[in-house]
Amino acid sequence: MIDLRSDTVTKPTQQMRQAAFEAEVGDDVYEEDPTVKRLEATAAEMLGKEAALFVTSGTQGNQIAVLTHCKPGDEILLEANAHLFLYEGASMSALAGVQPRTILGNRGAMDPADVRAAIRPDDIHFPETGLICLENTHNKAGGAIVPLENMQQIYEIARENNIPVHLDGARLFNAAVASGISVRRFADQADTVQFCLSKGLGAPVGSVIAGSADFIRQARKWRKRLGGGLRQVGMIAAPGLIALTEMVDRLAEDHEQAKRLAEGLSQVNGIEIEGKVETNILLVNVGGLNQTSDEFLHHLKEQRVLAVPFGPETVRFVTNFDVSGEEIDEVIEKVHKLARNI
Ligand SMILES: *Cc1c(COP(=O)(O)O)cnc(C)c1O
Repeated sequence: MIDLRSDTVTKPTQQMRQAAFEAEVGDDVYEEDPTVKRLEATAAEMLGKEAALFVTSGTQGNQIAVLTHCKPGDEILLEANAHLFLYEGASMSALAGVQPRTILGNRGAMDPADVRAAIRPDDIHFPETGLICLENTHNKAGGAIVPLENMQQIYEIARENNIPVHLDGARLFNAAVASGISVRRFADQADTVQFCLSKGLGAPVGSVIAGSADFIRQARKWRKRLGGGLRQVGMIAAPGLIALTEMVDRLAEDHEQAKRLAEGLSQVNGIEIEGKVETNILLVNVGGLNQTSDEFLHHLKEQRVLAVPFGPETVRFVTNFDVSGEEIDEVIEKVHKLARNI
């Protein structure tokens, strides 16, 4: 199978497996795991934040951020297709007791004027705006890079109104590598940041949240409450360290592969590339083949290629380091053949 469903399907490298094997460990609930501490310090340094916390997943990291920043009855402003809104099981409502208020953006970027207008005035009828969430790269917008200036404008509005900003940077390193803007500069435009080690960076498990020392102290308690206080967790933090030190630059290869795939597929009659390809995610509209995304994916799977539906006619392909350039060419060829036979 050529698996382009997600960059989460990447398997840990040999070096990661070796590092897990050799990791120096301790009980991390007592804050005695040296490998976790090293990972957290490295991540905090890269993001330019005071402190960081290793968490089990991106979803857990985002939810800890919501729980730490907000109180029940607050309202969160976020983009209408944000991962936090679409794909986290309404956990912000279920766990933090907050309600989302969505703002439709352009390629994942909310208009700062819309954000300003959505902030609640002080009124007995209204919830309080407790948090603004940004997402970069934006998954549902096809790996779009939210421009730094857009984030700056929103962060300024947030500060004027004393509202914290959380950045869902599950794929922030993709945004940095593709734009040439450091993760630190993006992270500067938010109080707290979550990023995933287990996507294009290839670690088997885990995410990191970063922010002020005070935020991380409170976040650590929320992580414990959620059952995320782990013990000799250096075993899984060690691959995460390698993800940060060895795997960042190679994300550029995934971006190249996505462009190559887009170029190839754009030559297929009946297939349209949706939006532009900025990072490792490619959205393709198959409506011109008179197929739904599910039908198309069924045929594709028979050709031993996997992708996921992202709308009635939209299919998402995500390039990753387990898929070679030759395999990308193979996928293009198979889709050509498939389109001819439909
Ligand atoms: C994957 C992802 C998450 C959640 O990460 P998990 O580790 O799968 O829980 C959050 N936000 C975005 C934008 C993502 O792509």
